[in-house]
Amino acid sequence: MIDSGLWHTDDPEVPSQRIWLKVRETLERRTSPYQEIAVLDTVLFGRALVLNNVIQTAERDEFCYHEMLVHPVMLAHPAPRHVLIIGGGDGGALRRVLEHNTVERVTMVEIDRDVVEVCRRHLTAIHANAFDDPRVDLRFEDGFAFVQARPSRYDIIIVDGPDPIGTTPGAVLFAGEFYQALADMLTDDGIVVQQTESPFLLPAQTAATYILLRRVLPIARTYLTTVQSYDGAWSFTLGARSIDPATVDEAVLLARMNERGISACRYYSPAVHRAAFQLPVFLQQFLDESLAAGRPAETHPLMPEVNLRFPGFQP
Ligand code: SAM
Repeated sequence: MIDSGLWHTDDPEVPSQRIWLKVRETLERRTSPYQEIAVLDTVLFGRALVLNNVIQTAERDEFCYHEMLVHPVMLAHPAPRHVLIIGGGDGGALRRVLEHNTVERVTMVEIDRDVVEVCRRHLTAIHANAFDDPRVDLRFEDGFAFVQARPSRYDIIIVDGPDPIGTTPGAVLFAGEFYQALADMLTDDGIVVQQTESPFLLPAQTAATYILLRRVLPIARTYLTTVQSYDGAWSFTLGARSIDPATVDEAVLLARMNERGISACRYYSPAVHRAAFQLPVFLQQFLDESLAAGRPAETHPLMPEVNLRFPGFQP
């Protein structure tokens, strides 16, 4: 039974599961033109950013997400100079991109300046003041509209949007036409990566991005990390023109880490990089079936109660 203290529970991604986190204090809560924003001081995970009542990132385990969102694609590339981040208002992905001394410019397109303002104030442990780096070009606009204009080409594109559930402004970041624009903005050896939800709860989202990236780029891969403050396993999906991050040698990855001065990782390593692309059998089968059908399979591989008629799959 939940005791009388202060607790937070996410708006569920699927019915019949809720995660409860004990909260010491609500540090800030405000409504922006785009979403409800809150920073909670949680007992287990430290300070956490919550958008529209869904946890986005938390101090204690953000490294599990941000190191694995950024370093596999950045280290697979021989010299990433120009990087685009869409979303990522907490600054955790930006901080990891800037650790690579090859980077000359990072364009970050975040729709909600209130998120950055709140995170600047309360979540320095996540962003480490990355927003202030002179290489950063921070723009407050819709990432979907930004890519439609195809303003430039990038070595790496990172789409760090929220979960495509509820009233988030992030649903457009999972629409079919979005991926063609991303592909058009990659350099010849460019790589794009997107967070693609829980492979256990929302495998249709994971499959949808995999299918859509496969349509616009010759290489597409899914890989996993673990983010306990979300609910465990979490997926990323990448697409590339010529470099396959799943096959880069560990020795090459280690040499690049040393050349770029990347040493303080607590989740990422070259061995973890390679292992992350080895998927559980049920997930690989689900992705293969979905790709063959040209749309996410509609029967959940593990939980028939979860309705996978995926409203978000906009081919
Ligand atoms: N790590 C989190 C996760 O896995 O769900 C997401 C990180 S971050 C907090 C998500 C960011 O995407 C938010 O700052 C939100 O304001 C931003 N965002 C949502 N829709 C957007 C859009 N259409 N264009 C640009 N940024 C957007």
